[in-house]
Amino acid sequence: MNPTTTPKLPNTKLFINNKWVDPITKNHFDTINPTTEEVICQISQADKPDVDLAVAAARDAFENGQWSKMSATERGGLMYKLADLIDKNRDWLAQLETIDVGKPYTVARDADVAESAQTIRYFAAWADKIHGKVIQSAANHLTSYTRHEPVGVAGFIIPWNYPLQILCWKLGPALAAGCTVVCKPSEITPLTALALCDLVIEAGFPAGVFNLVNGPGPTVGEAISRHPDIDKISFTGSTRAGRQIMAASGASNLKKVTLELGGKSPNIVFDDADLARCVQGSIDAIYPNMGQCCCAGSRLYVQEGIYDVFVEKFIALAKNLKLGDPFTQIDQGPLASEAHLKNVLNFIETGKKEGAKVLLGGARAPMKGYFVQPTIFADLRDDSCIGTDEIFGPVVCIFKFKTVEEVIQRANNTQYGLAAGLWTQDISKAHRVEKKLKAGTVWINDYNYTHFLIPFGGYKQSGFGKDLSEYAIQEYCSVKAVILNHGAPY
Ligand code: NAD
Repeated sequence: MNPTTTPKLPNTKLFINNKWVDPITKNHFDTINPTTEEVICQISQADKPDVDLAVAAARDAFENGQWSKMSATERGGLMYKLADLIDKNRDWLAQLETIDVGKPYTVARDADVAESAQTIRYFAAWADKIHGKVIQSAANHLTSYTRHEPVGVAGFIIPWNYPLQILCWKLGPALAAGCTVVCKPSEITPLTALALCDLVIEAGFPAGVFNLVNGPGPTVGEAISRHPDIDKISFTGSTRAGRQIMAASGASNLKKVTLELGGKSPNIVFDDADLARCVQGSIDAIYPNMGQCCCAGSRLYVQEGIYDVFVEKFIALAKNLKLGDPFTQIDQGPLASEAHLKNVLNFIETGKKEGAKVLLGGARAPMKGYFVQPTIFADLRDDSCIGTDEIFGPVVCIFKFKTVEEVIQRANNTQYGLAAGLWTQDISKAHRVEKKLKAGTVWINDYNYTHFLIPFGGYKQSGFGKDLSEYAIQEYCSVKAVILNHGAPY
């Protein structure tokens, strides 16, 4: 059955204590379809007093509500139900993601939404397996152990590139650990998070466990980051906003913070790489999600012996990427917003002014919607603006290199450290280089693969803390040490 391009819209109010409520100010904002450039609907806009109400609901649920009395196994049971409901509503959620973000419908359905359900299900299984340790050898008269307790009320601040998926990356470990949540989706793409609220009720979660407040970063996001009764912030977004969130969290009550930030990731192709695989792999490193991937392989380093043939084949594949309506069989939809389109086009103009050579694209696509042509720059300086700043669009910069040592040094010469890729058939070289790369994820003969079993998070100014895998659970736990003296005189 063909997907509808006009799916049923979710409730667009604020979601507090399992109820849809109007914001105190009655303000709202538009959410826009980036393919048609038309308003989809109006979304209620929260402000600080609404955040206070949401936090109070989350706090009450954490301290006193049914959630606080539930066994970990029961908590996991609710999460399994939520995962099943995400699966059951997969088409609907994918349609909402496609009209709101502009990503290809099949990708939204088979990757974003499918993986959201898998992530919640994976963490559901963890809920009753989170435990501390017994420390046996501190002293003969002591029994000591640790408890891994939920950190409390968690504030989520979510970006627009993977709205449902990144929310679920955070929701899974937070609920498994026993936290309650106040979530702010991106003001550019709020629809799937709103849709999730009804599924939270349907799954049977008690009131106050998951609360949602929509609105802009500088007001609603800031109110969450600064709130004295939120214990933890989990943020995914730009390094710029990450700094502000960290400062507000520190200045208020020193919240525990996880930051998943930007990147300018190196993707390194050695002379001995399998040519067909590394060309396709490097296309898949930069162009999925219209280049709006935090870990996109946007700095492409190609060794001199393979450079000419690689670049020729890379251009040929990029030229074939089909742009168009994301509900049809295309490779690339539009960028997510008009403001972001302008950013990306500005970067492209800057690149031209810096003297970089445009091998492909270099302009807005001549069609309705916020489409940008797949763009390839070459012959540019490592320290150029487009070679160092995160563009977050379908734009790749290709650099030529000679030696292993040289490319390691150039790849690491960035403020970021989110991810890196390398392509070689020499297993020893792969390990030698991987060990030297300062990045939270390194793909060898692959790129962009993520999985709920594998931790994801950056080094350096790409942030700290991990989403996904058992590592993520510790982000939502406080470790208490208990020491019992059972015999020694005092
Ligand atoms: P953004 O930083 O502009 O916004 C992200 C979220 O933060 C939004 O909800 C926004 O409203 C909020 N926000 C903005 N300013 C804020 C402030 N001062 N206080 C509190 N909240 C604030 O980022 P974006 O444009 O939505 O997303 C793109 C960025 O996200 C890119 O830099 C990308 O690399 C990064 N990203 C990182 C990862 C990762 O896992 N490391 C994943 C996806 C995206």
